[in-house]
Amino acid sequence: MSVRHLARAPAPAADVLIVGAGACGLTAALAAADAGASVVVVERDKVPAGSTALSAGLVPAAGTAAQARAGIQDSAEALAADIRRKSHGKANETLVRAASEAAGPAITWLGERHGLPFELVDGFVYPGHGVRRMHAMPERSGAALVDRLRQAAEEADITILTGAKVETLSMARGRAVGAVLARPDGEEAIGAGAVVLACNGYGGNKAAVARHIPALAQALWFGHDGNDGSALAWGEALGADLADLSGHQGHGSVAHPHGILITWATMTAGGFQVDCTGARFSDESEGYSEQAARVLARPGGVAYSIFDERIAAIARQFEDFRRAEAAGAVLHGDTGGALAAALGLEHAAAFRATLEEARDLAGAGGRDRFGRVWESPPLAPPFYGVCVTGALFHTQGGLVTDAAARVLKAGRPIPGLFAAGGAAVGVSGPDAAGYLSGNGLLTAIAMGRVAGMAAAGALSNSPCVG
Ligand SMILES: Cc1cc2nc3c(=O)[nH]c(=O)nc-3n(C[C@H](O)[C@H](O)[C@H](O)COP(=O)(O)OP(=O)(O)OC[C@H]3O[C@@H](n4cnc5c(N)ncnc54)[C@H](O)[C@@H]3O)c2cc1C
Repeated sequence: MSVRHLARAPAPAADVLIVGAGACGLTAALAAADAGASVVVVERDKVPAGSTALSAGLVPAAGTAAQARAGIQDSAEALAADIRRKSHGKANETLVRAASEAAGPAITWLGERHGLPFELVDGFVYPGHGVRRMHAMPERSGAALVDRLRQAAEEADITILTGAKVETLSMARGRAVGAVLARPDGEEAIGAGAVVLACNGYGGNKAAVARHIPALAQALWFGHDGNDGSALAWGEALGADLADLSGHQGHGSVAHPHGILITWATMTAGGFQVDCTGARFSDESEGYSEQAARVLARPGGVAYSIFDERIAAIARQFEDFRRAEAAGAVLHGDTGGALAAALGLEHAAAFRATLEEARDLAGAGGRDRFGRVWESPPLAPPFYGVCVTGALFHTQGGLVTDAAARVLKAGRPIPGLFAAGGAAVGVSGPDAAGYLSGNGLLTAIAMGRVAGMAAAGALSNSPCVG
């Protein structure tokens, strides 16, 4: 990845050039096109997918029509407060506000203007969110989300160049003016009035992960390999402001060795995790992100997620969970002893004692020694269990931007350069524990829309982007 400084800007092939065709890039493309700009999206893969396609596709947003229909009172300020609380106030405040305010209107706009059938996810509240505010496609998958965004972009006549990797960012007199692409038949330079970096973070770059997130250096990489740190490398080369590089979304519940995500609803609805000794080791209600390093620190780098049929029924709304069941990753037993045997837990007596303790805690609604407050009904037989490991899903640090998604250098915008989604700094702060469910797609979609609008507006020297 490099930056080329040209003496003068090439003739623009498009008003806005967008690097990456995940949720962020496609949303930015739709927003820029809606604002009247000509847009070219460049994607290294043959088909747009990105980490978005690997995700559950859950997007938090406040004040949407779907929430109103469900009788849920919510506001951008309430969403921002939940994000702040999870990050212990360490997240970039400008972006917390900007993303929280932009999310609801973005979901409504994608639904009404571009036909994306967002639904409110039913059945449980994600940890850290005060109300139900996760929006998803009917299929409850990120693959469906990115497919529908691509369809909408195609219907809007947006050019998407696939099989085209941006290797070099072109600058002229301090302004981003295009890029050089590597294509199967050679290099191609594209000039543009503005460039939006929507190429996600560096989770797929082992060296960068070891440098910035050493606790997860050995973690299973669960994101898209295209997260190779392109934006970070360009930012470093430009001397752009970078922040929260240790921030990330981990996950402490990926079926092992199957490599299938087991929804954290298994925990929030009343399940818990034990290690191979049959004992619990943490407050599972804190969130799945920080749980990745905790699970990896257990013997063998694995743990066991324990729940029951009531919870399995909730989890089955997710395709991943159904896949995990079909793959034989989800085991059950009519008694604690039978489940311990199915899971191969040698310390069956200790496991049975943990199960009984959890039942008593849930029955009494008590707070346990880890600080978890038990609010769900006690588990009832048959009991379910899955062997899980810790994984890295995506990084949350990156290029610092302002509320208009402009990339900053020493606090001032680099002309013509925008970033959002995983390419930019997120709203989780520097710690895994700062990641609130949905922070990834929140910034991809909410700030992706802002970036597209601002990049298009920048061309006409819109006052909103200075
Ligand atoms: C298993 C899993 C589950 C998740 N579940 C959720 C969830 O439910 N809710 C949530 O909010 N977040 C979730 N996330 C995180 C979420 O997927 C990401 O935060 C989000 O998809 C980021 O969107 P993006 O558009 O920035 O990146 P991506 O979707 O990764 O898109 C970036 C695109 O840029 C392309 N690209 C990269 N470099 C270049 C280059 N140099 N030239 C050309 N193209 C390039 C890539 O190929 C890719 O297609 C999950 C992540 C994982 C891995």
